[in-house]
Amino acid sequence: MKAVRVRDLSFSYNGLDILKNISFEVDEGEFLAILGPNGAGKSTLLRCISGILECSGVEIFEKPRESYSRNELAKLLGYVPQKSSSNFMTVFDTVLLGRKPYMGLTPRNEDIEKVRKVLELLGLQNFVLKRTNQLSGGELQKVVIARALAQEPKILLMDEPTNNLDLKSQLEVMRIAERFASKGGTSIVVMHDVNLALRFARRFIFMREGEIKADGDFKIIKSDLFEEIYGIKVEIEKIKGIPVVVPLG
Ligand code: ADP
Repeated sequence: MKAVRVRDLSFSYNGLDILKNISFEVDEGEFLAILGPNGAGKSTLLRCISGILECSGVEIFEKPRESYSRNELAKLLGYVPQKSSSNFMTVFDTVLLGRKPYMGLTPRNEDIEKVRKVLELLGLQNFVLKRTNQLSGGELQKVVIARALAQEPKILLMDEPTNNLDLKSQLEVMRIAERFASKGGTSIVVMHDVNLALRFARRFIFMREGEIKADGDFKIIKSDLFEEIYGIKVEIEKIKGIPVVVPLG
């Protein structure tokens, strides 16, 4: 089953073309990293898939995204934006909001238990009663990821989820996305850190100027690609079978 199908997707802001005829498909169970320079259109693409930006040409589980209700979509798609704002709500209540598509006015025991589990998964147990405006940028990022996981989506869309995070937390978040995909979910992550993406994801889409320039597994990771996409010279070594990209001086 195709979890996501994007067909001839074009998108413009105020008449300025940002995405130009993008097409690709993502199977259930895939872990895809979307890479490319600033302004390539990666975030715009993720927002189009999530439905934050209105556009046609996106299918979720082989049906047009528009054919789902908001509640149905919330059970299918979890979206972690690049920047999240904090407020006076506690960490617990913020993550509990992820259960909204499933519960009525009051949370059930099951909802509380799911929230407790994701808080533990992200190591946030000691923050439950803190207000989100009392958190560091990295802590807030983890809370937003926890909220998306509490939603129990089938597809996890994350926009630069490792920005702001220390090295250990970066690995934790990538492992969560990896495990999510290995359990049959679909992880689509916009990243800047090419080596972190290579370490965890299994498929890579490189974008530039609103177009997909390369799409594939480790086989596409060649120095010419980095020259074309980023205009830089790199050397590529393999460590434990995983390519590592080293920019040259
Ligand atoms: P990336 O995620 O690859 O850095 P974005 O999708 O954020 O790229 O942005 C692609 C282009 O769209 C950029 O040139 C950016 O300036 C423009 N853009 C992004 N958001 C908006 C917006 N809300 N209004 C107008 N232009 C935007």
